[in-house]
Amino acid sequence: APQQRQMTSLMRERLPAVIFNLFEDIGRLADDEGIQIYVVGGFVRDLLLGVSNLDIDLVIEGDGIRFATTLARFLKGRLRVHEKFGTANIRFGDQKIDVATARREFYQYPAALPQVEASDLRQDLYRRDFTVNALALCLNSDRFGELVDFFMGRKDLEQGLIRVLYNLSFVEDPTRILRAIRFEQRYRFSIEPQTLGFAREAIARHMIREVSYERMFDELILILSEENPAPALRRMTELGIWEYLLPGLEWTAWLEVEMAAIPPLLKSLAAQDLPSPKERWIVFFFALNRRLSADGVRFVVEHYPLKASMRELLLRIHQSGSSTSQELQAWLRGNCSLSNLESILQGWSWESLLALRAGYSVEETLRLAEAWQTIRQSKPLLNGNDLKAMGIPPGPKYAQILTRLREASLDGRLPDREAEKAFVQKLLAQEVPVWQE
Ligand code: ATP
Repeated sequence: APQQRQMTSLMRERLPAVIFNLFEDIGRLADDEGIQIYVVGGFVRDLLLGVSNLDIDLVIEGDGIRFATTLARFLKGRLRVHEKFGTANIRFGDQKIDVATARREFYQYPAALPQVEASDLRQDLYRRDFTVNALALCLNSDRFGELVDFFMGRKDLEQGLIRVLYNLSFVEDPTRILRAIRFEQRYRFSIEPQTLGFAREAIARHMIREVSYERMFDELILILSEENPAPALRRMTELGIWEYLLPGLEWTAWLEVEMAAIPPLLKSLAAQDLPSPKERWIVFFFALNRRLSADGVRFVVEHYPLKASMRELLLRIHQSGSSTSQELQAWLRGNCSLSNLESILQGWSWESLLALRAGYSVEETLRLAEAWQTIRQSKPLLNGNDLKAMGIPPGPKYAQILTRLREASLDGRLPDREAEKAFVQKLLAQEVPVWQE
């Protein structure tokens, strides 16, 4: 069909050659096994939008795990099977492929006719969140490039609409409200009016309370991982979602300015090879939490699955974030030493410091980043063995001597080993023993 040829040339044009060839191989393997195979979901959506996306989700009408095993062997990749869900994933190089079995109907009595193949895929796609995510692309040789579009997803994609597949979609799975907002803002689409009505209804019925905090948190993390989360966060405010996620959060113009300042800051850090956050969502999350009341922070710490270190930082941001923020500002304005900065930074993570800097000048924050890097990389030239060789009896004062050495070397006062040794001798000769200071 002409449409199939058109899609094939779109694929050839937009996909990296390795992926295109991989798809042809996958199609032939599926032919050999006598099964129908499709790429589905975000990959197809982004292919049509011309957005790069290399997360491949395959759906198979047939035994997904068996096919995944064959494919993994063919690709010499690593296979992980989730028997319970009929899914598997394959990794080879830095490519990841998820393989799922199209969900089938359960029959009420043994003699029921088997479902026809096409409705297996339809059933699978019908369970999905939005029409634009419910498109499938067939990879079998004779149908290669055939777009399967049961729910007019392509039209919604062209018109920029996020639309659910059935009225109770948000009631069944309220995490989809956050997903709708995420896709709407990412692609500058709109949530289709009736769909928006369903979302508002589900919110008014407090459906979000029915979902586990873990699941809501996963979706919140995805929003905060977007290039620029601020518009989605504003949309969440508009829909009245914060009371369920971060109770007491007030979305003010100032908070919006802070949130919008973070992406350019992170970009500058990356461009200059300065320390970047390990995960960018954490910076946004800290910055939001900074604006919560004590009760709000307690709620977050109690309800969300967070690492202990992160919980501590959230409480600390609430208790002393402002004073640290002022100290940093004073440090930047003054001509203070690195050892002084090190003591201000004590116990803060880089992500939390960046959150404290949200809304401040990028240029100053880059200076801070350089200092942070210097502090991180610096180490005194002498170590414990050297102290021992100097005849100092091992004991708790080693740690203190090394700390003092580190401070002095940070501030550039000790250019070489000899200078460090002299510094240690001076410390030891001081009247007040270092370990009692
Ligand atoms: P992204 O570009 O953010 O990765 P994606 O569409 O690939 O977007 P995933 O969260 O990886 O998003 O989900 C993959 C697919 O699984 C989606 O395209 C959608 O079809 C389906 N899906 C994910 N979460 C849900 C959900 N809560 N309800 C229904 N379908 C979902």
